[in-house]
Amino acid sequence: MKVFKFGGASVKDANSVRNMSAIIKANLNGPLLVLVSAMGKTTNAFERLLGLTMEEKDHSEALQEIQDYHLDIVASLGLGSDSVLEKDITDIFEQLKNGLSEFSSSMGYDYMYDQTVSLGEVLSTKIIATFLNSEDIATSWLDARKVVKTDSLHRQAQVDWGASQAMIKSQVNRQIEEGVVLTQGFIGSNSDFKTTTLGREGSDFSAAIFGTSLGAESVTIWKDVPGVLNADPKKFDNTELYERLPYKEAAEMTYYGASVIHPKTIKPLAQKGIPLLVKSFQDPSARGTVIEECLVPNLAPAIIHKDKQTVISFKISDFSFINEHHIHLIFEHIKRLNLVINLMQNSATSFTICLDDNPKKREQLRTALMEEFLIYYNEGLEIITVKNYDQETITELMEGKEIIIEQRSRNNFQMVYKS
Ligand code: ASP
Ligand code: MG
Repeated sequence: MKVFKFGGASVKDANSVRNMSAIIKANLNGPLLVLVSAMGKTTNAFERLLGLTMEEKDHSEALQEIQDYHLDIVASLGLGSDSVLEKDITDIFEQLKNGLSEFSSSMGYDYMYDQTVSLGEVLSTKIIATFLNSEDIATSWLDARKVVKTDSLHRQAQVDWGASQAMIKSQVNRQIEEGVVLTQGFIGSNSDFKTTTLGREGSDFSAAIFGTSLGAESVTIWKDVPGVLNADPKKFDNTELYERLPYKEAAEMTYYGASVIHPKTIKPLAQKGIPLLVKSFQDPSARGTVIEECLVPNLAPAIIHKDKQTVISFKISDFSFINEHHIHLIFEHIKRLNLVINLMQNSATSFTICLDDNPKKREQLRTALMEEFLIYYNEGLEIITVKNYDQETITELMEGKEIIIEQRSRNNFQMVYKS
């Protein structure tokens, strides 16, 4: 069995759906499970819709836009007269409207988010399943909410691996007899069968959940880039494609903020030794990148950039020095506030951390520690991490930047600088 994942950009309009269908058609030589995200920027549109509802503002226009966008694609795919699909779509929008009208703040935003935003994935897969069948690609629709089991931490649900693996295996094995199994990324359900989601951009992780549950021979993520590049081509020139990448390298790149693959994707696949292929849906015959257990000598330096960074320094005001007690205290609050540190550094009299901008939590942290330290912070900064660096790369990156923190180990270089 192979597992394919297509993200929002690969199904953003009728032509993209046709392109995806051609890719599937070219890969029907064995059992295939396909996961799809919501179409285009639908998840963002749902988030706006929900925001308006929360603020008790009129959301009818936002809702209509989502509906029109999908109906347009349906019409362009020549599915306008498919009565089953029409009913499915009507039902989904009914469910959405009812959900929004029943919304009350006591339900909690995160719960509500999962019940509504997840419908973007349901819509896209209903449309695509109908289209694939109309193209003579026998396709059976699978509701991921029935088989991906999670806890109840809405918007960040944690997977119940045991339950999910068993459900996925038995359900997919049944449906695969009927042809391609088409399902959704990103969504699941808790033990009360309430919909949950796995976090933004979580479809890659869903592909890993399905891939490992099915013991797939490979998982392929189809993207709008040629594969895993050594830097984001939207931000850097002269990027290089990795043909092969060890799991560990790929996982660490996502840790430092490379957005090409969702950070949770690699670990389950690595544990089962299932290769992860990252390929271009615009150039499907190109080889792309294979992430697997391998040794690659002289890997090109990976450059990972993140903006919206805050640096906070905790300084000792008397003549004592930073010690374990201080660091322990700082970390106690970092942990309590669920903050993620991107870089840290200490000197005799201060301890400095760099994290993603989050003014609310920064204030909470400051309030908790202001008796103990003099606290300084600086927001709106940027950070670049270079894995497997060489001096030439670093010199070039540093040129003309006002650098605030610089740090290097044997393999990694990091710098925080002013935008
Ligand atoms: N549709 C969801 C999102 O945009 C999940 C995904 O695309 O991976 O975040
Ligand atoms: Mg997406």
